Amino acid sequence: MKLLQKLEILADAAKYDASCASSAAEKRDSTNSGGIGSTSGGMGICHSYTPDGRCVSLLKILLTNFCQYECAYCVNRTSSNVPRARFTVAEVVKLTLEFYKRNYIEGLFLSSGIIQSANYTMEQVVEVARTLRLQHSFAGYIHLKTIPEAAPELLAEAGLYADRLSINVELPSEVSLKQLAPEKNARSIERSMANLDQGIRAYKASKLDAKKKRNNKLLKPAFSPSGQSTQMIVGADQSTDATILQKANGLYRSFKLKRVYYSAFSPIPDASSDLPLQAPPLVREHRLYQADWLLRFYGFTVDELAFSTNANGDAVNMLALDKDPKLAWALANRELFPINLNTADYEQVLRVPGIGVINARRIIRQRRIRAIRYNDLIQLKLPIQKIKYFVSTLDHHPHTQALDGAMLDQQFSVGATPQLTLF
Ligand code: SF4
Repeated sequence: MKLLQKLEILADAAKYDASCASSAAEKRDSTNSGGIGSTSGGMGICHSYTPDGRCVSLLKILLTNFCQYECAYCVNRTSSNVPRARFTVAEVVKLTLEFYKRNYIEGLFLSSGIIQSANYTMEQVVEVARTLRLQHSFAGYIHLKTIPEAAPELLAEAGLYADRLSINVELPSEVSLKQLAPEKNARSIERSMANLDQGIRAYKASKLDAKKKRNNKLLKPAFSPSGQSTQMIVGADQSTDATILQKANGLYRSFKLKRVYYSAFSPIPDASSDLPLQAPPLVREHRLYQADWLLRFYGFTVDELAFSTNANGDAVNMLALDKDPKLAWALANRELFPINLNTADYEQVLRVPGIGVINARRIIRQRRIRAIRYNDLIQLKLPIQKIKYFVSTLDHHPHTQALDGAMLDQQFSVGATPQLTLF
């Protein structure tokens, strides 16, 4: 099979992995000129963000989509009849270097189906990164998807070459994992995450130590300097948003993950009868990202956010789909508003719908000089139509009737968007 054909299959197979935050890439088609660097249809190129906020384009591929595991939600599972392909280590290295030299990419995102054994597959993945770094002095970004069942030594070596490592937890509950991904094991996933976390912490500590001593001598070599991340599939099982967010919260706390990615389940051909026939609404994935942000940076708890009820008024532990989670929380807790922007503490200001971290800090800073007025909110370019019900200033005191009115719910409600196809 020609390299270009393999690239087509193995880039397509990698598109379901959201954990490098892919997006559309510029289309270049050099098929007619026979060039190996053709990225027809944006094939295999995704974008990711570095810790300093830079957006980098990555070659996003699988080493192989042959897989001996039978994860029901995955198009590459052993019983799937998709076209299969396998790169050699040398081919991935060559593609990465060629694309890099042509300025198509700034790095590589490499994952793989499991062939022969977890250790054998992981050895191959590590070999790609080792060859790029040691033989070709490749300085671009490398994100390796690691296999939790592989030997800790292999994961430790992966950390020496990769900028970021990730292990997918896939599903939020052990029961669902057993049902839909029988070869995977929640404990070994968390054990491997803990090992990676240990390596990352040791590296950070040695960096801090070197900084304190004002020298560049690191006691530990760089280990996954951009941290670790994971991905959870949303809507393939019956897990509620509360369960998904509790799981994410636990992972952030236990292993200091950089990101948890939420990937809305897409129905796949010849799917198992254990899977739903329909994808969840795309907006559910979006609401989870919003709630994830509120948990990490705004001091909210899962219970405060995932409180929706069904038509009978029973708690269903889901996020509201028709409003962002912060607004939904504010509307469900109207007795706490309006917040006086001249006296409220920072944490309270942060809970006002439409006020983010930067503007909350600006408000606190500004009021040390003089009292906040309504016009200041306009100057800060805050969404006045939203926040005017929730705040009071020196010259603005909203009627509590306006805040209590049922109209407010409808005013801020947006229809749930149906799931779009991924590609
Ligand atoms: S291990 Fe599971 S999720 Fe990963 S490629 Fe194989 S079948 Fe797909």
